[in-house]
Amino acid sequence: SKKILEISDLHISFHTFAGEIKAIRGIDFDLYEGETLAIVGESGSGKSVTTKSIMRLLPTNNSEIKSGKIMFKDKDIVQASEKEMQKIRGKDISMIFQDPMTSLNPTMTIGKQIMEPLIKHQKMHKSEAKKRALKLLDLVGIPKPDIRIKQYPHQFSGGMRQRVVIAIALACAPKVLIADEPTTALDVTIQGQILDLMKELQKQIETSIIFITHDLGVVANVADRVAVMYGGKIVEVGTVDEIFYNPQHPYTWGLISSMPSLDEKNNELYVIPGTPPDLLNPPKGDAFAPRNPYAMKIDLEKEPPMYKVSDTHYAATWLLHPNAPKVEPPKIFKQ
Ligand code: ATP
Ligand code: MG
Repeated sequence: SKKILEISDLHISFHTFAGEIKAIRGIDFDLYEGETLAIVGESGSGKSVTTKSIMRLLPTNNSEIKSGKIMFKDKDIVQASEKEMQKIRGKDISMIFQDPMTSLNPTMTIGKQIMEPLIKHQKMHKSEAKKRALKLLDLVGIPKPDIRIKQYPHQFSGGMRQRVVIAIALACAPKVLIADEPTTALDVTIQGQILDLMKELQKQIETSIIFITHDLGVVANVADRVAVMYGGKIVEVGTVDEIFYNPQHPYTWGLISSMPSLDEKNNELYVIPGTPPDLLNPPKGDAFAPRNPYAMKIDLEKEPPMYKVSDTHYAATWLLHPNAPKVEPPKIFKQ
């Protein structure tokens, strides 16, 4: 199928008193029409910075896109003007954040907030936008839309608020929807409902989704493909099956080992020992090497290339070098 986003050689830094934080250190990935791509990886690996750069919502005071391209259709988002971005944001590409309160305006009725992008981007008349807003509220499963449309965010529960945020994000039927941990602030049952809703709506409006999460269990349910991030890089990318059943990077092994299994009686979870790399002084080899029980000398010296495992599966680990010793993934990984 066709590519809707093409990201290449992206490098992003933050300038701080301590020095230059090299948060994104050369990432490449594509997003295809209609697919859901999950981005996983531990805190600080660069998931949010990557997606904020696609919306061009990085802080203006200290961030810098050092190089790279983010191609959306024929436009490079990195080079786009703020005026061009205002036409793209909320229309072609929209975003849902973890905490719905941060994306809702507490002083405005939710009806007005859903109507806003419709009036701005679709040039709808107020009455038409209102009709559409009622439909959208109904679509995202909010009962009594005609009453709810006049209410303010504080009159909604957390799960209902996130539904409103989804309605706003989908109002203009965007080509790309970015969801940054959209369910982590919600309890488990509501989480499931919101995820089902997103999948259902995706089918109806044929949008592509980038889904960021810490939770690999969620990934298995919603994603088609997975990109694993570590220390500002994508270390492995593949279909859900490839990542879960044939992972290649030792960090992915650790990540899967730390997943709670359903039949697990004891809830003692495996945690990958060690700390994430210092992005002020990134290591010159594989950034995961100090935490990798399988690390070889070369891991500390030279960055591994992305090795091809299949047409859809790539991993950046020296273990895939033809001369590397064959190692078995850790026991904890093999259920
Ligand atoms: P989490 O799972 O905790 O949300 P993440 O993968 O989304 O983590 P990012 O928010 O993308 O992580 O951050 C990547 C790196 O960039 C981190 O080292 C973070 O400290 C740094 N960073 C992000 N925003 C800023 C900023 N405004 N100023 C300085 N450094 C920043
Ligand atoms: Mg984040």
